[in-house]
Amino acid sequence: LTVLGLESSCDESAAAIVRRNADGRIEVLADCVLGQEDAHAPYGGVVPEIAARAHAEAMDHLARRALAESGLVLDDMDAIAATSGPGLVGGVMAALMTAKGLALGAGKPLIAVNHLEGHALSPRLSGALVFPYLLLLVSGGHTQLLAARGVGDYQRLGSTLDDAAGEAFDKTAKVMGLGFPGGPALERCAKDGDASRFELPHPLAGRPGCDFSFAGLKTAARQIWDGLDTPTDKDRADLAAGVQAAIARSLAERSGRAMAQFAGEFGPGSHTFVVAGGVAANTAVRTALEAEAAEHGFTLSAPPMKWCTDNAAMIALAGVERLARGDTDGLDAPARARWPLDAASAKLDPVIG
Ligand code: ATP
Ligand code: MG
Ligand code: FE
Repeated sequence: LTVLGLESSCDESAAAIVRRNADGRIEVLADCVLGQEDAHAPYGGVVPEIAARAHAEAMDHLARRALAESGLVLDDMDAIAATSGPGLVGGVMAALMTAKGLALGAGKPLIAVNHLEGHALSPRLSGALVFPYLLLLVSGGHTQLLAARGVGDYQRLGSTLDDAAGEAFDKTAKVMGLGFPGGPALERCAKDGDASRFELPHPLAGRPGCDFSFAGLKTAARQIWDGLDTPTDKDRADLAAGVQAAIARSLAERSGRAMAQFAGEFGPGSHTFVVAGGVAANTAVRTALEAEAAEHGFTLSAPPMKWCTDNAAMIALAGVERLARGDTDGLDAPARARWPLDAASAKLDPVIG
């Protein structure tokens, strides 16, 4: 099965081609990503209108480039997949409309992919991944723990009560003037910092359940920053290191609680802990999660860095997995601003577009 996947839900325009061979092996035949950092940098964050226009301009060209890179033609595809949410609707439309046009023109099925399912399946791009597994989805817009039981079958165990972890990275980086995008900038700044210098809260530490909270941490970091007279490079590095460590510590502690719950509910056979999403690209976060997993007898599985942040390979892969189950969509598939991964709440969700 060979699928062309398109992605445009935030500020990466992307097209990729993924093949599942008869033996189940996954091959990424093309993987094109076009970031928009320079367009958004002057504003310190993603501007939806700018993103939507840039996606619309890039999508056609990217799809063509992915085909050229793979040496295949549209007719070699078994389906066309595109993210259809959640995300900035103006942006989501770009990939979805392009995919609809290609699917209609070439007479191929359309697969409207949940972007979060793309992240959830992303470690499978580089190796085997067996259901069920515990999933920490940690990105710019989401921080959730889910039991992944199969393609399209996710049960939420916990989620953030306020900000996403990626948002905490981005907003703190912005306050500290580290530039955009904030997460990677904060990680670079933290490199030689002393994480123990500033005292930061441990949100929800020891509390039952496995929800997250990052708003208090973000506020505490801003107060420390505002309290520094003329911050030196050392102040900046120490605070960045402290914030990064506090986020990593909280993600690990809450995940540890979910591991205990998951092991109880899903039996002693499933001890795989998957982390996916942009924040999974952070080395301190990965290290903390690895240690926590080891403590609970879990094995951490994370995609390579390039497939942590937004890409279309994960969307094409989700398309392949859905197609293998005969699960395709009509050309009326809507673009959705919100689209929870777990089915129970998906029913209650408003559909836009
Ligand atoms: P969602 O997937 O929830 O819709 P998104 O697609 O915008 O949101 P991703 O592209 O998966 O999110 O991840 C982007 C987020 O990851 C940003 O918040 C970014 O700052 C963060 N991020 C990326 N790299 C790093 C890093 N090295 N350290 C910390 N955070 C990072
Ligand atoms: Mg991005
Ligand atoms: Fe994402």
